[in-house]
Amino acid sequence: MIRHVVMDMDGVVYRGEVPVPGAIETMEALHDQGVKVAYLTNNASRHRVDLVEKLRHMGLPCSVEQMWGSAYTTARYLFTEAPDAKIFAVGMPGMIREFEEVGLTVVPHYEQATHVVVGLDHDFTYEKLTCAHRAICNGAVFIATNLDVTFPDSPSTTVPGAGALAAALQASTGVTPKVIGKPQTTGISLIADSWGVEPEAIVAVGDRLDTDIAAAKAFGCVAALVLTGIANRTDAAKATGLHKPDVILQDLTELIPLLSLSR
Ligand SMILES: [Mg+2]
Repeated sequence: MIRHVVMDMDGVVYRGEVPVPGAIETMEALHDQGVKVAYLTNNASRHRVDLVEKLRHMGLPCSVEQMWGSAYTTARYLFTEAPDAKIFAVGMPGMIREFEEVGLTVVPHYEQATHVVVGLDHDFTYEKLTCAHRAICNGAVFIATNLDVTFPDSPSTTVPGAGALAAALQASTGVTPKVIGKPQTTGISLIADSWGVEPEAIVAVGDRLDTDIAAAKAFGCVAALVLTGIANRTDAAKATGLHKPDVILQDLTELIPLLSLSR
């Protein structure tokens, strides 16, 4: 039996501010059965405490230790790869707090920066873009928390995401960023390490083929597409390679029998 689950959030356990039908019962059942669950989201705008609060407010069980937002994942990655980094951050206070809490240094002036990290930033300005641009031109390492160019802010509209800001900087500098969020495997790999398990021992559940499923397949987990979000059955049927899910779940309740059947 598989006892470890990496779970995407939007389109999987909730949509907007509302839990997906069956999600609360499923997450409670996993908790009661002692299945280890980690939430892995490309959201870089909020500290984990705020992401946890959103789930709990909707009645979904979650602790801070289970939550891996891409700001925290980036913090953990940088602390391992470049603990002495001096970071010029284009991002929200929640992202900066994640960096400082793991012991990284965030600098206010681009001239000091060894690294530039771009996440979602509601206070993005031409001045910030210029500072980040100059730091990268001076040799700072360019990191993007994720490359999501848009995300939905209502059922019919989207807003620019961190990937749109990173794209501006990539265009001006000609430098391609190191990306941390899905479809990269940095987050899922850090989670597997924290559990001490191999990829095959994990089911990763998501609603997007190009991020959730791609990361799961690249890492070697069981990749489960749930049809309550972005991708539908036709998309899944057309998908190839790393975008092709191993399993399709009509909704999250089908995860419980899948776990019992696996292995
Ligand atoms: Mg999603």
